[in-house]
This record gives sequence, C-alpha cells and structure tokens, in this order.
Amino acid sequence: MLKSLFKKARTLAGLAATSAAATLPTSPSFSNSASAPMDSPLRTKLCIIGSGPAAHTAAIYAARAELKPILFEGYMANDIAPGGQLTTTTDVENFPGFSDGILGFDLMDRCRKQSLRFGTAIFTETVSKVDLSSSPFKILTGAKTVLADSVIVATGAVARRLNFPGSGDGAGGFWNRGISACAVCDGAAPIFRNKPLAVIGGGDSAMEEATFLTKYGSKVYIIHRRDTFRASKIMQSRAISNPKIEVIWNSVVVEAYGDGERGVLGGLKVKNVLTGEVSDLKVAGLFFAIGHEPATKFLEGQLQLDPDGYIITKPGTTQTSVPGVFAAGDVQDKKYRQALLLPGKGAWQPWKLNIICKRLDLWRARANYNK
Ligand code: FAD
Ligand code: NDP
Repeated sequence: MLKSLFKKARTLAGLAATSAAATLPTSPSFSNSASAPMDSPLRTKLCIIGSGPAAHTAAIYAARAELKPILFEGYMANDIAPGGQLTTTTDVENFPGFSDGILGFDLMDRCRKQSLRFGTAIFTETVSKVDLSSSPFKILTGAKTVLADSVIVATGAVARRLNFPGSGDGAGGFWNRGISACAVCDGAAPIFRNKPLAVIGGGDSAMEEATFLTKYGSKVYIIHRRDTFRASKIMQSRAISNPKIEVIWNSVVVEAYGDGERGVLGGLKVKNVLTGEVSDLKVAGLFFAIGHEPATKFLEGQLQLDPDGYIITKPGTTQTSVPGVFAAGDVQDKKYRQALLLPGKGAWQPWKLNIICKRLDLWRARANYNK
C-alpha cells in the first residue's frame, strides 16, 4: 500500500522496457535476425550480463573492437533499475569531465547511449541461468537463449538488509512501510517529510544517505555499531557537520515498531553494545546502508566464488576460473566498489581499471573466437 508512496527510481525500468525494442541497433549483432522466433538461440561472440558502469564500459570497448556484443541489462534485476547502483544515487561528483557533478541516472543513461552508438544490442531482460560448462556458453533469460563465445559478468551488487523483529515485509514488519535500503529512491516519500529518520551504517553510503535525507526529514540519526566510521573523510565531515544529523555510536537496532495508527514505522529500540542499555528512538523512516551482496546466485556455482560470493578473478585481470568468461565491477571487487576514479593509488584510473574489461582481455576473447 505505502509502497506506492515511495517515489522510486524503479519506474525507470518501465521506461527502459518500453524502449527495449528501439534499443536494438539496425544491424543486429547476432546471426539470427531480430524477428527470429524467441525460442531459437541468438548467436554472438560476446554476451555481457549487467548494466552498470562495468557492463557499459565493457560494451563500449567490445563494440568498438567489432565484437558486436549482446548485453542483458536486466529487468529490475535484484530490484535495481537498468543502469545499476548509480541509478539509486543523486550527484556523482568524482567523474572527470563533469565539474559540477552529474546525476547518477543521467550518467548511466549516457553510458547506455554510448554502448548503443557503437552497435551493442541491449535487451531489458534478466539472465536467470547460464551454462558455462562448454563453449559456446549458454545464457538464458525467461524469453531468450544466447550462445556466446565469451561472456562478461558485470552484475554488480545489491544492498544488504538487516533482520530483526519488525524489519521484514510480512505481517508485523515495516519493510516498505518506513524501512528501506535506498534513501535516494524512497526518501522523498510523503511519509518521511518533516519527520525524524534514521540510517544504519558507517560507510560512504550511510553518510551520503543521511545527508540526502536531511532535505526531507526534521532530523536524521546515523546509528553505527562502532565508534568510528569507515566512510571517506570528506563524506564523514559533510555528514557530521550537518546540524540536522546526530550520530548514535556503538549501537544497533534490535526492534522496529509501528505507529499504532497507519501501520507504518513508528520507532526503534536501539541497543548500546557497550552498556547493553536499550533506548527508544521515535522515527518514521529507517534506511539500511550496510553494504552490498554480489549478484552471483544465477551462476549456480559455475564460476569460482570467494566465501562472500564475489567472483574470483586472476589478480590484475578480469579472467575468471572459466577461460573465456570474464568478470568486472562490484561483482568481483569488494574492496574499492567505486564506479569511477581510484585516487590515492597515484595512478589516474578512469572507470576504475579493475572494473573495466581491459582491452587485452577482449582481444583475447576475440582471438579465442577466431581460432
Ligand atoms: P552495478 O552498478 O551494481 O550494476 C549491475 C546491474 O546489472 C544491476 O544493478 C542490474 O541492473 C544488472 N543485473 C544484475 N543481475 C543481472 C542479471 N542476472 N541479468 C541481467 N542484468 C543483471 N561510486 C562512485 O564512483 N561515485 C559515486 O558517487 C558513487 N555513489 C554511490 C551511491 C550509492 C547509493 C551506491 C550504492 C554506490 C555508489 N557508488 C559510487 C559505487 C558505484 O555505484 C558502484 O561501484 C558501481 O555502480 C558498480 O558498478 P557495476 O557495473 O559493477 O554494477
Ligand atoms: P561499506 O561496506 O563501505 O560500509 C558498510 C557499513 O555498514 C559499515 O560501516 C559497516 O560497519 C556497516 N554494517 C555492515 N553490516 C552491518 C550490520 N550487520 N549491522 C550494522 N552495521 C553493519 O558499504 P557502503 O555501501 O557504504 O559503500 C560501498 C562502496 O560504495 C564503498 O566503496 C564506498 O566508498 C562506495 N560509495 C561511494 C560513494 C561516493 O563516493 N559518493 C557513496 C556511497 C558509496 P563496520 O564499519 O563496523 O564494518
């Protein structure tokens, strides 16, 4: 019910779906024609799965190298619109060339257009299954099967949620009734206007979301389980210096309860982990900003994953455990997880070089194809 009150970037998925047919280039990049029956497999040299900066960077490189890639951008895959995590944020300020910043959605829209411009065929479908046991690799969505000589997995990551009484979406839970994992998507909803709100986390997302929410809430609490933030200094100081933000250190939420009237979130029980004391915090909104999980379930263990589910790649490359299958972006990188630059390493690395499917790998993929 109240879900509809949430103003979501997710409606963008509908737009993307409508434009899917129009996104196919006039010269299809697969051997079947666009009018081929849906059950007959499409054939391609390269299939890219995902739609964030990594997928589109790969598509741009691959299309310019005349690999004619097919890209599955997902249809609300993992509850995120095509374009990936940046569609859930406001200003992206660290991309060179945009001195005034650029909205995350606009940036991804430009990436998508650039992929199309060089001949990438984009489908607004979610890949549900792959068969990487032999070449050509098989990539399946609900409607299509693609046979590909090489595959790039760039499916990113999804926001984590906490589990405590009142946090769920079933009876007695306030998920989507005041609890969310995306402040940018949901923060402007009327139920949050001029009300106290809370964010859980101590990373850049928590800082950004808390700062963003001060536009709407009367006050924003950041609840963090430790006594220091891991967020970058600039993001921390922006948040801490905001007069509407108060940090509740060394604390965890143990329960969410309703407002007693409308069945929406009314407040939280917050426990100090040092003293064990539980206090009451009246808030109308709670936003999880506690990190992400890699979107690798559809791989069903066919690629080597680390214990947290991230795809393991050969150090310094995007090569996975299966020759001809590459991984790029947050799905294989749990350390940097930045779409853009990696300052501090001394090297200028636009588009985070380790999320880019390096030209070299693509040329290797091409060489494999030509064998
Ligand atoms: P993602 O952006 O995660 O995109 C992957 C997408 O692929 C998914 O979202 C989905 O649409 C699609 N997909 C998933 N599974 C499937 C499937 N099975 N089939 C088809 N498609 C699928 N970084 C910066 O550098 N600057 C910033 O200002 C910044 N702000 C951020 C703000 C927020 C709130 C968050 C959460 C992150 C921010 N980041 C920022 C980090 C940045 O967004 C990520 O590092 C980057 O988006 C990762 O890109 P990606 O291509 O790996 O995947
Ligand atoms: P992070 O993994 O960096 O931070 C997650 C935070 O949540 C940590 O503070 C962690 O606590 C806390 N946390 C994790 N699990 C729990 C739990 N079970 N209970 C309570 N707290 C928990 O994730 P982010 O989403 O913040 O950032 C991901 C990446 O995206 C980073 O690389 C970040 O730099 C980037 N990003 C960049 C932005 C920008 O540049 N504008 C904006 C947003 C994100 P603890 O610290 O104790 O482990």
